[in-house]
Amino acid sequence: MRLRNIPGSREAIAKNRWCIRESEQLRGNWHQIFGNSHPIHVEIGMGKGRFLMTLARENPQINYIGIEKYSSVLLRALQKMEEEPLENIRFIRMDAETITDIFQSGETERIYLNFSDPWPKDRHAKRRLTSRQFFSRYNLILEKEGRVEFKTDNQDLFDFSLEEVKEAGWKLDGCTRDLHRDEIMNRGNIMTEYEERFSAMGNPICKLIASR
Ligand code: SAM
Repeated sequence: MRLRNIPGSREAIAKNRWCIRESEQLRGNWHQIFGNSHPIHVEIGMGKGRFLMTLARENPQINYIGIEKYSSVLLRALQKMEEEPLENIRFIRMDAETITDIFQSGETERIYLNFSDPWPKDRHAKRRLTSRQFFSRYNLILEKEGRVEFKTDNQDLFDFSLEEVKEAGWKLDGCTRDLHRDEIMNRGNIMTEYEERFSAMGNPICKLIASR
């Protein structure tokens, strides 16, 4: 998702109380920000943030961190937070390539990847959030029982991701190519903005859950 650049979005983010700056300094100390030691769940590429904010509202015993590369997109999530502040959620504007700089070993419990950019060219494969390079980052920051949950309507990206799970030495705890018709996998499913749009077009939604 790349919205038109919104002038002043960087400055607005810099001043916002839900958005964390200098997040490297919190590595290993995220409980200070939340004022508790609840587990941390992260969404990478959270777009406008509806998925994460719904989870945060439903699960006050979990802390949520949304990571988004673009200020203009993140700004939309911050505007929603002003309307409905949630104490168990924070946002970071960053490229997830450096995610190991902000979380220490085992500091997170779950990582959500929803409708991640496909990067269709082979030479860009390592930029895909389900590439083996990203799984090795997730391996560093997830606790032992931690897991990655990934949804997409892009069949090629899903095929690639299944291969990468195997290549990374992870195992599949769940997998479907038609989430909305899979009673078990769909239980408690929260639709993202992209999921709503693509399923309305008739695209089946794929989901995998991976752990080590
Ligand atoms: N997850 C949302 C949804 O399902 O509605 C948005 C999906 S959108 C296609 C993908 C989002 O991931 C974009 O907002 C993009 O800026 C963000 N993104 C892509 N690569 C990223 C990265 N390496 N680090 C942080 N955000 C990233």
